[in-house]
Amino acid sequence: MSSMLTIIWEKYDLGPNSIPSTDRDVLRKPDFSGYPSFNSEELIFYPVTRIYSDGMERDVYRGILQCGDNQMQYDAALKVRFGDARDYGRGEAENYCLPEIQRVQGKLIPRFYGFFEGEMETYETKTSCLVLEYVGEQIYPIEDTLKLRFRVFDQLCELHKEGVKHGLLTFLDHVCQHPDGRVVFTNLCGVSVNHDCPSARHPAAPGEQYAPARQKYLCSQLINCLVRLRIWTPVSFSCYDHQVKSDYAYPKPKLHDLVENEAPKDIPRLEAEKEGCEAIMEYLKKHQPKTYKKYEEELVNTLLRIEYEEDEITLRKIRSRKLKKARSTTPTQPRSRSLTPTPETVHRN
Ligand SMILES: [Zn+2]
Repeated sequence: MSSMLTIIWEKYDLGPNSIPSTDRDVLRKPDFSGYPSFNSEELIFYPVTRIYSDGMERDVYRGILQCGDNQMQYDAALKVRFGDARDYGRGEAENYCLPEIQRVQGKLIPRFYGFFEGEMETYETKTSCLVLEYVGEQIYPIEDTLKLRFRVFDQLCELHKEGVKHGLLTFLDHVCQHPDGRVVFTNLCGVSVNHDCPSARHPAAPGEQYAPARQKYLCSQLINCLVRLRIWTPVSFSCYDHQVKSDYAYPKPKLHDLVENEAPKDIPRLEAEKEGCEAIMEYLKKHQPKTYKKYEEELVNTLLRIEYEEDEITLRKIRSRKLKKARSTTPTQPRSRSLTPTPETVHRN
């Protein structure tokens, strides 16, 4: 077990104005046991580039890890936590040591090389450091090709099959692509094991876009992932302050049914139509762009018709209000007088 980590900053270029105050930092393995790592007295890490920084409490460096004993070198990452976040490092390291997690290391999650704590002169504070396998650049699957999005989903299924559930719902921010092509999930802070996943037992069905296959998928994280990756579309959307079935929008917009079945009875019909139409358009634009294109003209025309009718109603109201006002301000004038010219007028003409 490595008991010590030395970070040597000589290869790290911080730029001319921020040279580290020291050329090396030495950290120790915490007293408590349970952290397997290299069977080496000393690990040496040479940071080369900083690959992530939240500017507050976490920096991640890519660099070269060297085992003091056998001089073997590895492409590794050093995750430094400082300030109040320091304690999270310990929790994450403990997660890496769970047997279920160890099984998937080096495949679906990074290999864990060790955990160390101590005062770092470079940071001028106490820190905690995880040494991990470098697993490539962070990717943003939501913006990527369908092929990659499916690969991310398949890998997440694999993780669930192993009983591991990624703890952060924003897990799509913690996806990396290894130089060898595999998709790897990072940040194991809130991970849970013994997840008996009902969905992962069924293979993913690429291209299976809509409701029928959903019954197979009962795991909320996988469903969430399918929706967020835009592989599946949500089965409902928000309208009239509640969730309505996506059947009202797809495969064909059904505005009439939506208004009839879902709109509260106390709102004016045109208002209900307008809200429904806008909600259908928003849903289709976001989740079914092809269908949106197909029905765009029809939906836009519907909106225009609604607006026209609303204008008509407003105009009618204004007219009747004016008329009422005119009548109420001239109570003594009989109605007929306005219709026939007065003798005075005739005279003038
Ligand atoms: Zn699951």
